[in-house]
Amino acid sequence: MRTVRGVPELRDALAPTRRSGLTIGLVPTMGALHQGHLSLIGMAREQCDVVVMSLFVNPAQFNERADLDAYPRDERRDAKLARENGADLLFIPAVEEVYPGGFATSVEVLGLTDKLEGAVRGAAHFRGVTTVVSKLLNMTMPDIAYFGQKDAQQVVVIRRMVTDLNLPVRIEVGTTVREPDGLAMSSRNVLLSPSERARAAALPAALNAASDRVGAGERSAREVLEAAHTAMARFGVTADYLELIDPETLEPVSTLERPALLAVAARVGTTRLIDNTILSPAVTTNQRPAVKSTRKASTRCSV
Ligand code: AMP
Repeated sequence: MRTVRGVPELRDALAPTRRSGLTIGLVPTMGALHQGHLSLIGMAREQCDVVVMSLFVNPAQFNERADLDAYPRDERRDAKLARENGADLLFIPAVEEVYPGGFATSVEVLGLTDKLEGAVRGAAHFRGVTTVVSKLLNMTMPDIAYFGQKDAQQVVVIRRMVTDLNLPVRIEVGTTVREPDGLAMSSRNVLLSPSERARAAALPAALNAASDRVGAGERSAREVLEAAHTAMARFGVTADYLELIDPETLEPVSTLERPALLAVAARVGTTRLIDNTILSPAVTTNQRPAVKSTRKASTRCSV
């Protein structure tokens, strides 16, 4: 695995691959890698000839300075994990490489970004995400880019951007990888104290309580959300938002007639966590989705 920091180096490293007609997969991350990120490398490894992982803590998408400062960073550990899990190229640009002096352009998806995370974190958050993702796509020019369902709204927004701007890339989405107690893996989990870590189980508990209610035949969003709120309250955690929404438009649904997205965000201590699951009226209790997923084996290929 090679590590590159500049866009010209990245393009030079990928030029022979592109000339040979081989496929390039990109896994954009902010580092502090965990199994969720590594499962996306695994998917890319299976589907692409060359796998690029980018590691960039994007200041533009942080709405709180303290969150940016606290964001965990360990480049050596990340490089080791990326190599061991089959990445061919690690792209670690400096902030000035991504946002050089005079930088004045942004990409913004309207409407979808006003809700959920956008409503809580402000318009700058998704503007930061879409701007950096479009830049990473232009820098790398992958055939396929990989994102996690854990950030469900991000996936919807990025798909919209790719469609609207005719970006020549396919978007693939990996299922949420969870800790044994159901907590979605997140780089921010390391910031939780032991007691906060225990309370963080409120989020998967909310998803499971909602899923159980749906499995028992409940179709009213109000009732399903009520069950989820009650489950969270048992952990002493209050949701920033807890919404049952259409998975494409992100508009609230009042009755579960087709699969809907249950999205939750909450602060546990000072750490903000998000999670989601798809609730389907066809799913019964013993098929509930909030469980750990497994990572598939992959093969190596070099740049
Ligand atoms: P981040 O480094 O948090 O920006 O995440 C990089 C990518 O990994 C994003 O596409 C996330 O949605 C994805 N990701 C983060 N956590 C998980 C998880 N627990 N399971 C699967 N994908 C994840």
